[in-house]
Amino acid sequence: MKKILLSALILLFFATGCTSAAKDPGENSSIYLTAMDTVMKLTAYGPHRQEALEQAQAEIERLDAALSIGNPDSEISKLNASGSAVLSPDTAALLGRAMELNRDTEGLFDVTVYPLVKLWGFFDKNYHVPTEEERLDAMARMGSDRLTFSPETGAVTLDAGQSIDLGAIGKGYASQRAARLMKEAGVSSALLSLGGNVQCLGSKPDGSPWNIGIRDPWSESGGLYCTVRVRDKAVITSGGYERYFVMDGKTYLHILDPRTGCPAESGLSSVSIITDDGTLGDGLSTALYIMGLEKAGDYWRSHKDSFEAVLIADDGSLYATPGLKGSISSQHPIEYLEP
Ligand code: ADP
Ligand code: MG
Repeated sequence: MKKILLSALILLFFATGCTSAAKDPGENSSIYLTAMDTVMKLTAYGPHRQEALEQAQAEIERLDAALSIGNPDSEISKLNASGSAVLSPDTAALLGRAMELNRDTEGLFDVTVYPLVKLWGFFDKNYHVPTEEERLDAMARMGSDRLTFSPETGAVTLDAGQSIDLGAIGKGYASQRAARLMKEAGVSSALLSLGGNVQCLGSKPDGSPWNIGIRDPWSESGGLYCTVRVRDKAVITSGGYERYFVMDGKTYLHILDPRTGCPAESGLSSVSIITDDGTLGDGLSTALYIMGLEKAGDYWRSHKDSFEAVLIADDGSLYATPGLKGSISSQHPIEYLEP
């Protein structure tokens, strides 16, 4: 009898020991990697975190190798060099989304902006303020409507002198893909930070929402302007402070307005998109930045179901879509957009 009791106690000890180890939801691992021209931090919680992180890293690196304009062997570099290609399914899917966004934003989101990106020196940091003639020459080669693309086969042919850059949409796609793979690997709680793009998987291990900071565009120490509490969402920010150069006292940022061929000057200093769809969020953060407050508000009103947004104007005013009431916090007054 004593023996049985002892065995039962030992069993109970091991059983509870194992259970508490497996259930410790706070256990986490992080990895850092440099890809897509930025430093990324991926953090995952729970028992399957290690393999999930490895899969996420491999996926991001695979997409970077396909999309990078800095790598002459990438699919996009080869397409830009030869003028035509048959893209892999992922790259074709991404170009398809970029084309949709181009139509939907009346051309403001335009991946054929690459000749302008190069001209201004944002590709190799060889910064240059172009002359009007140089700008018009680059703009004459732009237009997503001028490339031929079959989403079914992935076959794409650029118009003469065209080249494309999926940089404004690629990180959102990569974080969304990485999050999906991590979920499939059994992780239900993870935070992926890809430069200004944050993708949350599930909620915090204790079940509470993630609290995601949106940077103060004027803080040199990386201070925050506001925070949003979210579950299972991408929070993607385009800010003038992310990549820019200063020449003769004027600041030029890397988000270019296809209508002028110049850096966007829309009165906004930061646009964050909160959405289930990371690819959309990345594209829209760039496009709404160019639109400015009024047009961005109109765009949101006609696409209300697909995203929420936080906009910080050049004068410091903070605007948010009303769906964020209760989940956004800031020490600055918040003005909600009219529905
Ligand atoms: P980041 O990549 O720094 O997060 P964005 O997502 O806003 O910022 O993307 C900006 C990048 O997209 C630029 O560096 C440039 O390569 C490209 N780009 C600039 N203007 C446009 C535009 N109007 N449409 C599409 N891509 C653009
Ligand atoms: Mg973007």
